[in-house]
Amino acid sequence: MKRVDTPELREARIQYAREYRKKNPEAERARKRAWRARNPEKAKAISDRQRAKDPEKAKQARKNSYQRHRKKELAANKARRLADPEAYKDMIRRYLATEAGRQMKLYAANRRRARLLDNKSPGVTPKEWSEVLEFFGYLCAYCLTPAKKFERDHVIPISRGGRDSPDNVVPACMPCNRQKNTKLVAVWYCEKRAA
Ligand SMILES: [Zn+2]
Repeated sequence: MKRVDTPELREARIQYAREYRKKNPEAERARKRAWRARNPEKAKAISDRQRAKDPEKAKQARKNSYQRHRKKELAANKARRLADPEAYKDMIRRYLATEAGRQMKLYAANRRRARLLDNKSPGVTPKEWSEVLEFFGYLCAYCLTPAKKFERDHVIPISRGGRDSPDNVVPACMPCNRQKNTKLVAVWYCEKRAA
C-alpha cells in the first residue's frame, strides 16, 4: 500500500511522535542510548555541534548528568555497605590502594585544606584540644563512652562551612566519627534513631 503523504499528514506524524516521546521519556532515553551506541561518530558530532552552539546549556547538562549519576552511585554504595559491611570496607581499602584511589585521597585532602582557608579557620591548638577533652570528661560526645583515642569531630562539618576551631570540635570515638562522616549531627542522629 502506498503511503499517502501530504504536508498536513507529515506534520501530524511528527506531532504524534513528539507527543509519544514526551509521554514515554524512559523509552525515549533508551532509544537514544541505543542509537548513540550504534552511531558513536555521529553522536559525537551532534554533541560537539550542540556544545559549540550553546556552551552554557552543555555545561548545565553535564552538571545535571553528574548529579544524577552521583546520586545513583551513592545509593548503590549504601546498599552495598549495608549488605556486607566487611566486604565493603575491603573494597574501599583496595580502591584507596590503587593510583586512582590515591589521587582521590589527595584531591579530597586538598579540597579540605582549601575549605579550611575559605572558612577562615583559626585551628585548634593542643592546649585547646585538651580543654575540649576535659570539658567532655574524656567521653565520646555522641555515645558517651570512654575511648583510648578520640578523633576531632567537627560539629558543623568543614564541607558545610564549619570552622576548625575550639567551639566547633568535640571528641568522638572512631565508630561514631566514621558513621557521622560529613553529616550534620541532627541528620545523623535521626538516621541512627530510624535504623
Ligand atoms: Zn562514640
